[in-house]
Amino acid sequence: MDLGLAGKRAIVCGASKGLGRACADALASEGVELTICARTEAALRQAAEEIGQATGVTVEAVACDIATEDGRSAVLATCPEPDILVNNAGGPPPGDFRDFSRDDWIAALDANMLAPIALIRATVDGMIERGFGRIVNITSGAVKAPIGILGLSNGARAGLTGFVAGIARDKKTVGRNVTINNLLPGAFATDRLMGMFDEAARERRRGSIPAQRFGVPAEFGQLCAFVCSAQAGYLTGQNLLIDGGAYPGTL
Ligand code: NAD
Repeated sequence: MDLGLAGKRAIVCGASKGLGRACADALASEGVELTICARTEAALRQAAEEIGQATGVTVEAVACDIATEDGRSAVLATCPEPDILVNNAGGPPPGDFRDFSRDDWIAALDANMLAPIALIRATVDGMIERGFGRIVNITSGAVKAPIGILGLSNGARAGLTGFVAGIARDKKTVGRNVTINNLLPGAFATDRLMGMFDEAARERRRGSIPAQRFGVPAEFGQLCAFVCSAQAGYLTGQNLLIDGGAYPGTL
């Protein structure tokens, strides 16, 4: 299926590895020109080279912290008029909510709520003017089924989710072929998740997933590419779980 994206421009945040990298790979495979960012320059440059070599698309790499104003300005200077925006950053640390300081909360809000909102604000009007836009926020399955020790993540992502719900259904966005959706990963085999477990814990976690395996980042990237596709213009304001059946609810 041709997703109708060849020649479009995308900003993909947090794309040197993991789920962001998988989204960048899948979009590049569809002929999307990329601006990718991550904090570690060497890893980001290597990702950009690999993606460019594999697909032939232009990949600009901007090493920055997307949670900062300077970082976002650098990304937007490189790609001021994206057709696609994939918001992503590392998740906040786990812990007992009693131990979280105000600074911990501000850092979580900056990375997982305010940075995506700032990038949406900076790019959505151009998408509306051009009559095409796809915004995807990588959030978490914990938005639907909160995990106690991930209080910072639960709180910050709930804020982003509420904000998106309000603007995605506006006539000015979806009425102009600009969609905004959230992708909610369950357990994917990325460095971040695998780094949290020893061998025994990993097996227990794997066994708890109805699919009996961790998600493969490429599966996530391909869902992202479809949500960004020309065919997905009627899909907006949704929170799409991709979790191997882990969420137990009917809806
Ligand atoms: P990862 O650590 O494998 O990759 C994160 C990427 O984002 C890296 O490229 C890193 O350099 C970049 N990054 C992190 N913080 C950044 C920042 N402030 N500015 C710019 N770049 C930044 O992580 P992942 O597993 O791919 O997770 C991505 C997101 O999805 C995280 O928010 C995570 O909490 C969430 N998530 C992941 C899973 C999972 O199973 N992997 C499950 C639920 C939620």
